[in-house]
Amino acid sequence: MNSNLEHRIRKEKQKQWLWIAMSALLVVLFASYQLYTQAIPYLAQKIAVAIPQPVYQAVDKHTLTTLDDTELSKTQLSELKQQEISTLFSQLIDNKREAQHVYTLEFRNWEDQANAMALANGTIIITDAMVALAADQQELSAILLHEIGHIEHNHVMESIVSSSLVFVGLGVILGDVTALSDVLLQGTIIGITQSYSKQAELEADKYASEHLIAQYGDHNAMSAVFQKLATENQDESSWLSTHPSFDERIEKIQNTEP
Ligand SMILES: [Zn+2]
Repeated sequence: MNSNLEHRIRKEKQKQWLWIAMSALLVVLFASYQLYTQAIPYLAQKIAVAIPQPVYQAVDKHTLTTLDDTELSKTQLSELKQQEISTLFSQLIDNKREAQHVYTLEFRNWEDQANAMALANGTIIITDAMVALAADQQELSAILLHEIGHIEHNHVMESIVSSSLVFVGLGVILGDVTALSDVLLQGTIIGITQSYSKQAELEADKYASEHLIAQYGDHNAMSAVFQKLATENQDESSWLSTHPSFDERIEKIQNTEP
């Protein structure tokens, strides 16, 4: 065989191998992406509903204690103000058909950050600065209903389970099995503190705006709160994470028919 031809064949073969390797890499990347975006959330949802109530309770208790030891401090709100908001909160959760979750409202100060967050079992924390930011009962309702929406959709436990699955997966892949228990604990904290997925935020917004309409006839309070947070608070760790953008969320809410 002429050496020129041989050379060309070798080149062709190399090219073929390159294509095979690249396709294989693409398949692996695609599969990982699917696993991450589809399979893990699906699995997490199934696992989360199967987790018994006492675990939900323990997660809330543990998380609140951890947050109290680290981030949160005592509320400066008057007893009267707390009473007033608690009454509003009970009205908002009053019409829940079945009490799968145990709703409790906790008032805290968080370095003067306007924030609110939901824990797995129904504990909702609202900060003093967030209370101050809300102009009236409707705006407070918008904030509380958004958090209730996360709990009703079970986003918190799903997020904890997802992070744990990812961490366990990584632990197995990296072969560090002894770190697994640490990893599970970390998954819990990350699951709670990480920003929710875009879809989860939009679901909670939808829940809140529908309930605002039912309660007050419109959902204007929701956009009002978003607008204030968007202008006053650029901090990424604050309420309502960066994705989706406030603009997108306001637009989505405004598309919800009153
Ligand atoms: Zn949210």
